[in-house]
Amino acid sequence: MQQLGVNIVGGGLAGCEAAWQCLNAGLEVTLYEMRPHKMTPAHKGGDLAELVCSNSLKSTKPDSASGQLKYEMRALNSIIVAAAYDAAVPAGDALAVDRELFSRAIEQHLSSYEKFHIVRSEIESVPRQPDDNQIWIIASGPLTSSALMQEIVNMCGAEDSAYFYDAIAPTLAADSIDYDKVFWCNRYDPEGHDYLNIPLSKDEYLEFIADVRYAAKVPLRDFEDQKYFESCLPIEVMVERGEDTLRFGPMKPVGILDPKTGEQPYAVIQLRKENLAGSMLSMVGFQTKMTWTEQARVFRKLPGLADAEFLRLGSIHRNSYLRSPLYLNPDLSFKAYPQIFLAGQITGVEGYLESAAMGLLAGRFAAGRCLQREFFSPPRGTLLGALLSHVTTDFGKNYQPMNANLGLLPVAVKQRRESKMQRKARQVLKAKEEFDTYLAQATEGG
Ligand SMILES: Cc1cc2nc3c(=O)[nH]c(=O)nc-3n(C[C@H](O)[C@H](O)[C@H](O)COP(=O)(O)OP(=O)(O)OC[C@H]3O[C@@H](n4cnc5c(N)ncnc54)[C@H](O)[C@@H]3O)c2cc1C
Repeated sequence: MQQLGVNIVGGGLAGCEAAWQCLNAGLEVTLYEMRPHKMTPAHKGGDLAELVCSNSLKSTKPDSASGQLKYEMRALNSIIVAAAYDAAVPAGDALAVDRELFSRAIEQHLSSYEKFHIVRSEIESVPRQPDDNQIWIIASGPLTSSALMQEIVNMCGAEDSAYFYDAIAPTLAADSIDYDKVFWCNRYDPEGHDYLNIPLSKDEYLEFIADVRYAAKVPLRDFEDQKYFESCLPIEVMVERGEDTLRFGPMKPVGILDPKTGEQPYAVIQLRKENLAGSMLSMVGFQTKMTWTEQARVFRKLPGLADAEFLRLGSIHRNSYLRSPLYLNPDLSFKAYPQIFLAGQITGVEGYLESAAMGLLAGRFAAGRCLQREFFSPPRGTLLGALLSHVTTDFGKNYQPMNANLGLLPVAVKQRRESKMQRKARQVLKAKEEFDTYLAQATEGG
């Protein structure tokens, strides 16, 4: 009989983190990595945990979402966060790393375990019904090889179970909008409260499309082709098609009356709730390849958005991910195949740290399953719990990858004479307290 063990597909950030968590639980781990024999279009070599682009794991500030996520991951013995601090290079409040030192340290730590085995080959499918003592974790990332991606889609039994491109529209903090200049209503339903509308006059509209036309754009990478779905074109592509294209598309004003004037505006931008609490709003149909600096500049000129805080800016890039809430259990295992777990960016998170976070949780859940010792995840009010909830709880049809941001946490009720910064700091403090309580209970419970 095979030994009790965990098989992990993908030696990226999530796969290495999951491997580490399982090794620390005393399990035999086999990690399958296809590089360097078969490369992804973005990786440069065969190193484990290669950072494909920037060398930054974002802010270390304790009152930021990224800072809190690092705190939680560190407390749960994250190899990615520990190796990042060990390989840090000066970068102000950001945790930037020497990428080679970082990757090397991770490979060395993993390889120091006798129970760690690495197999350099592409996995095209995983056994759907593994032996009882075998668990699989798929952590093959946003550039999963096409054979495996097709197999994952087959496992889900629906061609539309996965997305292959990210078309992300900007998301704003609801409390950063000037509500004197915008109004709630649904199309043809003035009493509706699902959409926040930004009304534009003709002059404002023309200025906006000129701004979009001349704003700097992010160039396509050489492995990305400019094939967009007609239903989710970037706004700048629509602008190029004609002056009125946006006004007949996502900025269509029909059925919307401005309560101040009683008239239909010339054009409207609609924002929709991105989470149940309504603390995050996304700009409907506003996927864009404008650079992040330009997006902030152009969008802050819109009525009501002068002080807008962008929790996530728009982008369009190659990114394979599953519509996870439909197919995963709360512990990241497949509903139809409980011995197979999913981890990393492919679950529908975005970012190095977030991908590693989903590796950490998948590793702990999988180890718990192997050892028949249930792992209880951090609660919803922590950053880890909130990200897990995003990938396993269905919210609307339009499932989009999420980064760590404060909009994921419960809203802190505003106190008198409190600045926005103070309120946000209190929000993070609350998450920290919840996490500390969780950790104390988890430790007491063994
Ligand atoms: C081009 C690009 C740039 C990005 N830039 C940033 C950035 O600057 N900052 C940021 O925070 N995030 C960035 N991201 C997003 C994301 O954080 C990273 O992609 C991150 O590496 C995801 O971690 P992961 O472990 O899920 O996947 P990966 O780190 O990609 O790891 C997956 C691993 O699986 C392997 N693999 C794939 N298929 C198979 C198979 N069939 N068999 C065996 N092995 C397989 C791959 O070779 C890879 O090593 C970027 C993403 C892309 C695509």
